[in-house]
Amino acid sequence: MFDGPLETLVRQLAALPGLGSRSAKRIALHLLSAKGTKLDALMRALTEAAREIVTCNTCGNLDSSDPCRVCQDKNRDKSILCVVGGIADLWAVERTNSFKGQYHVLGGVLSALDGVGPDQLTIDQLMTRLRTGGIREVILALSATVDGQTTAHYLMDHMQCMNLHITRLAHGVPVGG
Ligand code: ZN
Repeated sequence: MFDGPLETLVRQLAALPGLGSRSAKRIALHLLSAKGTKLDALMRALTEAAREIVTCNTCGNLDSSDPCRVCQDKNRDKSILCVVGGIADLWAVERTNSFKGQYHVLGGVLSALDGVGPDQLTIDQLMTRLRTGGIREVILALSATVDGQTTAHYLMDHMQCMNLHITRLAHGVPVGG
């Protein structure tokens, strides 16, 4: 039914999380029905995002600056570190407006099923931060799933001898914020 650029567009959209080929076709038609406005605006947003958004080398957050705004904020307490699985979890904690420390994004959680081991996550970087950074307290805000809790245990084992105050969120953060 489709070929060329239209097929490519639908295929790219269908590959996005939460979208199947039906939604992809609907979105493609929607964008193409208003090329001058909607398609252009999306193209500009994508180009700008590709050009300007970078990963913060300190915490793993996404922002238009590295270090990110959270890491640069002088009003935040650098002695408290909140460890989260993904960036959506960081945003979820930020939305609560009640945490004024710093973050560390692991880039996922340990998962035997999905083949995610410690090397796939930023655990080494976390341990380096903890050894060098003047951090006194660590809050493990990992999801309440089996994998999230396995990751929390793994981290606690590795932080045991570091003289840190470690707390865990009772119910974790909602998956995907
Ligand atoms: Zn940062």
